[in-house]
Amino acid sequence: MSFKIRLTLMFSAVFILFQTLTVIVNDYAMRVNLNREAEKLLRSIAARAADAAARHLQPERGPDEAFTVPDPDELIRSVQSLHLNILEIAVFRLSEADLSGPAAGLGAGLLYGRYDRSVEPTDREDLENAMRSGEVFRSVGHDGKSILIGSFGFPGSGPLAVRIAADMSDMYGMIRDARNDQIALSAVLLLAAIVVSYGIARMTIRPLRHILGKVDEVASGRFDTPLAVNRRDETGQLAERINAMAKNLDVYMTKLKKAFEENRSMKEHLESIINHTTDAIHIEDVNGVLLRVNPAFEQLFGWSAEEAVGRRLPIVPESRLNEEREAREALLAGQMLPARETVRRRKDGTCIEVSVTTSAIRDRNGVIQAFASITRDMTNRKRMDELLRRSEKLNTVGQLAAGVAHEIRNPLTTLRGFLQLQQQTNKLNQRHIDIMLSELDRINLIVSEFLILAKPQATKFRVQDVRFILGDVISLLDSQAHLCNIVFNTAFDSEPCRVSCEENHLKQVFINVLKNAIEAMPKGGDIDIEVRKRPDWIVITIRDHGVGISEDMIPKLGDPFVTSKETGTGLGIMISQRIIQSHQGTMEISSKVGKGTTVTINLPAARPEEQAAESASETALAAGQREDGQATETAGSQ
Ligand code: ADP
Ligand code: MG
Repeated sequence: MSFKIRLTLMFSAVFILFQTLTVIVNDYAMRVNLNREAEKLLRSIAARAADAAARHLQPERGPDEAFTVPDPDELIRSVQSLHLNILEIAVFRLSEADLSGPAAGLGAGLLYGRYDRSVEPTDREDLENAMRSGEVFRSVGHDGKSILIGSFGFPGSGPLAVRIAADMSDMYGMIRDARNDQIALSAVLLLAAIVVSYGIARMTIRPLRHILGKVDEVASGRFDTPLAVNRRDETGQLAERINAMAKNLDVYMTKLKKAFEENRSMKEHLESIINHTTDAIHIEDVNGVLLRVNPAFEQLFGWSAEEAVGRRLPIVPESRLNEEREAREALLAGQMLPARETVRRRKDGTCIEVSVTTSAIRDRNGVIQAFASITRDMTNRKRMDELLRRSEKLNTVGQLAAGVAHEIRNPLTTLRGFLQLQQQTNKLNQRHIDIMLSELDRINLIVSEFLILAKPQATKFRVQDVRFILGDVISLLDSQAHLCNIVFNTAFDSEPCRVSCEENHLKQVFINVLKNAIEAMPKGGDIDIEVRKRPDWIVITIRDHGVGISEDMIPKLGDPFVTSKETGTGLGIMISQRIIQSHQGTMEISSKVGKGTTVTINLPAARPEEQAAESASETALAAGQREDGQATETAGSQ
């Protein structure tokens, strides 16, 4: 049932209830009023009748003196106004005895009037009661008529009793007519009320209908047309709120659509990356059961996605199980793992060298749900690396060979020239011999520098304190420095500065750098030497105040045979850099022409466990190593 009809029905029901109540109350009030009026009238008639009767009974009056009725005009007027039809008036004369004895019939006492409609025994009872209390009224039905009987007692005069019967049917008929009129009027009013309330309901509902239509639109996802708000009442406010709501929904909907679109394209992106990357990607749960693999995984390992998903595959060879377990534990402990170079097994049982990066996938609460691994086939990379290394080696060898050939041919040409001269002259010239010897020394120097590079690297790394190694080198070079007016200023850290190193090679580095510094200061001066311990590094700084290195030469430092000195080999820095590299360290040279040069060497500090392992043997070996070191230094300083 629509709201409109419901509202109308509600209106009508209220109206009917109200009208019914009105009719009932009216009817009742009218009856009561008319009854009261009728009673009043009867009372006054009775009083006059009794009065007349009493006078009639007086001895001085003749019996012919008629009983005077009340003023007929007045009576008629009042009776007309009440629609009252007086049927009988009877005046009784009652003695005490008449009243008490049942044998005394009412008829016997009738003094005057008519008494046709007797109602026994109530009549006598009413009269007796009226004698006591003044008056008694009784309504009775008689021949289909409503009759009001009034009994009045006048104990003072006679005693007399008056009984009046009046037909009330007309009066009640009038009341009924009035009621019927009212009901008819009510029906008309009801009809009008229905029409009006229907109209009101329609008017009230119309804006609601618009709002409903709008809500329907919003429900089906259309937000563009706002409701026209042209009233300030509740419906107007409702329309306003709904407009605001639709606008908000529109904004949120647009945002949502955008986010959804972004999400979708992001997902597609990721999917396409996962599916098209050449790296094998697989996701497994915490129990190692595969959840997803990409095409590259299928290609690398040989298992198809259908075979792999939902199973645990033996891709980790037995020899690597421990390593894998440790990695998992580290991940579960919340660590991030760097890429691991390891070995994996394919479906056909062959092993491949791979680089694996594994990361944990966590849920919203940070609990690890799965592991994602990216596996890269390193077989080709390894091969490439090896090729590169070899070609680099060949390149270096070629470069060196050319340089060596050039460097050695010059002194050899000199030697050959002098020897030829001697062959021709057959004389041994002392000056020529000196030159020949110095040329041979030069050849020896170049060759001995090369030996460090060429020597098969049967190196033995030990944990040593850099301060001691550098101290040895300084005391070795001290006399030479003294000759050149050079002073070494040392500032060594008070803490041990231990590194894992090959002592003789490190000495070679310090000798090369310090010799360069000495050679850069022909007029003498200070060389500052510093050793500092940093948390993971030992930093060695050697600073001179010499001639410096020109800017265009700095990038070339480290290439073989790059020298600015007449007798230089241009090998010292190259060799030093190689040695520092083999110690996992770095060597930096900064310089300003005319101001000086600073060489900074960083070496990784020895880890505690390395130190512990070495410390026992260290003391015992120290003496022997020192001797070796001195031997090398003498060779290097020649
Ligand atoms: P060499 O000392 O035999 O020339 P190096 O490799 O030791 O070979 O040095 C290469 C060049 O770098 C030197 O010739 C010199 O020009 C420059 N050089 C190196 N160290 C210094 C320094 N401390 N001060 C000025 N120049 C330097
Ligand atoms: Mg040098």
